[in-house]
Amino acid sequence: MRDKLADKIDEILVTEDELQERIAEMGAEITADYNRDDDVVMVGVLRGGIIFMADLARHVKLPVTFDFMDVSSYDGTESSGVVRIIKDLEENIEDRHVLIVEDIIDTGRTLKHVVDFLETRDPASIKICTLLDKPERRTVKKVEVDYNGFEIPDEFAVGYGLDYDERYRNVPFIFVLKPKFYD
Ligand code: 5GP
Ligand code: MG
Ligand code: MG
Repeated sequence: MRDKLADKIDEILVTEDELQERIAEMGAEITADYNRDDDVVMVGVLRGGIIFMADLARHVKLPVTFDFMDVSSYDGTESSGVVRIIKDLEENIEDRHVLIVEDIIDTGRTLKHVVDFLETRDPASIKICTLLDKPERRTVKKVEVDYNGFEIPDEFAVGYGLDYDERYRNVPFIFVLKPKFYD
C-alpha cells in the first residue's frame, strides 16, 4: 500500500512536519486573538476541513464549541457558481464568535457563500481560517482570510483531508498526484 502511494506522488507540497509546525503557530495566533471569555464556535467545513480542524483545535487554548457544515459547489458558468448548503449548523450562532475552518480556498466562491449565509444570523464576529490558499485562482475578491496556513501554486492538491475522488484524505501530508492518476 505504501509503495503504491509513493509511486503515485508527483510532488510533495507540504510535509507532515511543516503542517504540524504551522498548525501549532496558527493555534497560538488564534488563542492570542480572542478573549478568554469569548464564546467561540469552530465551524468545520465538511469533509476536507476535518483533519485540519482536529489538529488545529488542540492548539487553540480557549473553550470552543465544535459544529459542522456541508456545502457543495456546482461549477456553472464562471460568473454564476451555485453553492448549496447540504448540512446546516446545529448551534445557534447569534452573538457568538464564529471561526470557519476550511481546507482550501480556490476561487473563494464557497466561502463567500458560507459567510453571507451565516452573517444573516447576527454572530458577534465571523473569521476565516484556511489551511491552504491558491491566491492565483481567486475570483471572489470580497473574501477576507484571517488565518492562512500555506499559499500553494495552482495545482490540484490532495492529502491531509483533501481528496481526489474521495481518496487520499487520510494521507498525513499534502501532495500532487502524477498526471496519469487524475482523469
Ligand atoms: P472555491 O469555492 O474556493 O473555488 O472551492 C473551494 C473548494 O473546492 C474546497 O473547499 C475544496 O473542496 C475544493 N478544492 C479546491 N481546490 C482544490 C484542490 O487543489 N484539491 C482538492 N482536493 N480540492 C480542492
Ligand atoms: Mg472545503
Ligand atoms: Mg472534494
